[in-house]
Amino acid sequence: MENHNIEKRLLAKNIRPTAVRLLVANKLSGASSPLSLSELEELLPTVPKSSIFRALSLFNEQHLVHCIEDGSGWTRYEFCDNEHHCSVDDMHPHFYCLRCRRTYCFKETKVPVIALPEGFELHSLNYMVKGICSECSSR
Ligand SMILES: [Zn+2]
Ligand SMILES: [Zn+2]
Ligand SMILES: [Zn+2]
Repeated sequence: MENHNIEKRLLAKNIRPTAVRLLVANKLSGASSPLSLSELEELLPTVPKSSIFRALSLFNEQHLVHCIEDGSGWTRYEFCDNEHHCSVDDMHPHFYCLRCRRTYCFKETKVPVIALPEGFELHSLNYMVKGICSECSSR
């Protein structure tokens, strides 16, 4: 995504586009799979880890990113493609390969939404499938 578009996305979520926030958002929006804090740290060697973490926490609060737990112990972050408001409709399942430890995005697949008992309100959901990816299984 181009920088001025990212800036617009941040402003739309009431996030002041500081240099660090733009850098982090840029890496997230350009990634083909969700990134963990330590991966972002590697991609942004000039930015202190605590600043990256603060940017991610803010993005999460303002629903600019989706948080994904892949079971590896790391939370991964993914830029939300929905310009307006984040909803269950723009979430997709993820696949964690137990062999190469990569997390894949299945963007074309809809997340099954379960019916909740009355009085419960859905805010987010995590759909994580684990197994062996096509690349590893063909080896
Ligand atoms: Zn979203
Ligand atoms: Zn694999
Ligand atoms: Zn994804």
